[in-house]
Amino acid sequence: MKVISSGHSFAYEMSCLTMLFFPGRKVALADELPESDYVYTQLTEHKDTIELIVQVNLSGTQYQDRETLEGGTTQWDCQRALGVLVYKLLSRITGRHPQWGILTGIRPVKLIQRRVDEGMPEEEIRRYFQQECLVSPEKMDLAMATQKMEHQILSRSTPDSFSLYISIPFCPSRCSYCSFVSHSIEKTFRLIDPYVDALCREIDLTAHLAKELGLTLRTVYFGGGTPTAISAEQLGRLTRQVAGSFDLSQVWEYTIEAGRPDTITREKLQVIAQAGVSRISINPQTFNDSVLEYVGRKHTSQDTCRVYEMARDMGFANINMDLIAGLPTDTREGFEHSIQEVLRLAPENVTVHTLSVKRAADLAACSMDQLAQQAENVTYMVDYAGRALTGSGYGPYYLYRQKNTLDNLENTGYCKPGFEGLYNVYIMDETHTILACGAGAVTKLRQPGGKQIERVFNYKFPYEYLSKFDEIVKRKEQVKDFYERFPIR
Ligand code: SF4
Repeated sequence: MKVISSGHSFAYEMSCLTMLFFPGRKVALADELPESDYVYTQLTEHKDTIELIVQVNLSGTQYQDRETLEGGTTQWDCQRALGVLVYKLLSRITGRHPQWGILTGIRPVKLIQRRVDEGMPEEEIRRYFQQECLVSPEKMDLAMATQKMEHQILSRSTPDSFSLYISIPFCPSRCSYCSFVSHSIEKTFRLIDPYVDALCREIDLTAHLAKELGLTLRTVYFGGGTPTAISAEQLGRLTRQVAGSFDLSQVWEYTIEAGRPDTITREKLQVIAQAGVSRISINPQTFNDSVLEYVGRKHTSQDTCRVYEMARDMGFANINMDLIAGLPTDTREGFEHSIQEVLRLAPENVTVHTLSVKRAADLAACSMDQLAQQAENVTYMVDYAGRALTGSGYGPYYLYRQKNTLDNLENTGYCKPGFEGLYNVYIMDETHTILACGAGAVTKLRQPGGKQIERVFNYKFPYEYLSKFDEIVKRKEQVKDFYERFPIR
């Protein structure tokens, strides 16, 4: 499917929108009209009016719609009106009605927050997004509830606040749907020990920088990969380094994303508890063993329950569980069962992800009908999760979207009151600086009290991280340079 534009600069947005209606199909921008299968949009400015035209050609059949706007209409309103025209025409043709309407960016809540900050009343915000951007009432409820929770969390952050991210890019084996850079421990076994040593050095270096700059550590997050893929001794070395190098007295939240149940042992949980970690993740992804096997996760749902009970017995009082809607071979009933199992276990946090399809090629084996069916199933699953969780006392507190999720659906963090995962909100909103250590980690520098954001990248792969460690040390100077340009007031 080709997307061709004329007279405007919203080609990219129109192609994102087009993708929603043709799941799994390659949608690409083009300069010239092909014979068939295209979406053509045109904006023409006349003396007092602006004319919008959308033409769709599908399997040789031509469809068209048009609208006239008043002259002087803003760029954004032109883009929005053109998006609405494309959405409505493609809805008529395909019978699909993506629930987020024309909002294709990753942070719909941010758009709402902007209007709240401008003083727009709630009813007006709802009316605007539902009528002018075609967002469904259900998604609007979700976004408004999330915005309220997020707002409270964001307002806690002060100009000197920062979070620390530690990357453990190793996993016991690779899950078929994974889009992260993660390395199987079997293949990288010999690298892990030197990696932990180098990471300890980077943690210490980062702590010195933070101290020198007068930054206050608020949240700590060990992510991956799977942080518990490494041994208890290695994990202990890292947590002791964090405790020895940083001042943890002002930390609001300390998370270790334990992740896969097949890596979690009593010994590792003891190390985590001793480090004063306040929040862990035990991620089932699904409670259907056949689906787990199909996607290459080497554990069963029983393992998840066993490890969860063990963590509870050891006193962990804030546990997150991740589920994924739309895993290959999962069904509506299977997903309902996963949600019911999570509710039975009653963790404090539940994060519901929508499967992100890595490449259109992954879906090439499916027919368009199968893909449309899969997208409908995912819509059902995500809606079901929202209803079941909110009906059981959980509320949404953060929400974002990844590229290439079926039906453009979201990932939502739900929690019991008072158990919001702060780091998740800060990283997603880019509220304050995140100093990140380890392979694949990206430090995000946020101007205190301002909007400037700069990034410092570490090398992606552990072997590069080790062999070019001197360069990593050098790049840390950029943190200092940033705060010299944008001091904490
Ligand atoms: S455990 Fe997570 S990070 Fe590791 S391979 Fe599976 S999905 Fe990817």
